[in-house]
Amino acid sequence: MNINEKLSTLKYNKDKESHLTVDNEICKQCNDRVCTHICPADVYEWSEETDSLIIRYENCLECGACKIACDKKNIKWRYPSCEHGVKFKNG
Ligand code: SF4
Ligand code: SF4
Repeated sequence: MNINEKLSTLKYNKDKESHLTVDNEICKQCNDRVCTHICPADVYEWSEETDSLIIRYENCLECGACKIACDKKNIKWRYPSCEHGVKFKNG
């Protein structure tokens, strides 16, 4: 089963507010932006146009890898509020 097939077994209930927040001023100074490479769900994308980090939190798999990988400790991470976030379709 490839990653896209695995992702298709999940469903998402979008929270009203992001459970992932960053200080964008710190992200502006970040050279490698590892969050944009490590996330299996492509949640993070750097926008040259707005000079800011786009965070598609509604796609988050809640694996926690980004929080560990950010060497600036700039990702404030919590679980989505009750009944929100990711679940298995058949779970
Ligand atoms: S790795 Fe951390 S500091 Fe760098 S862009 Fe991502 S969240 Fe911002
Ligand atoms: S917790 Fe995992 S899936 Fe969610 S944004 Fe971080 S790396 Fe991506």
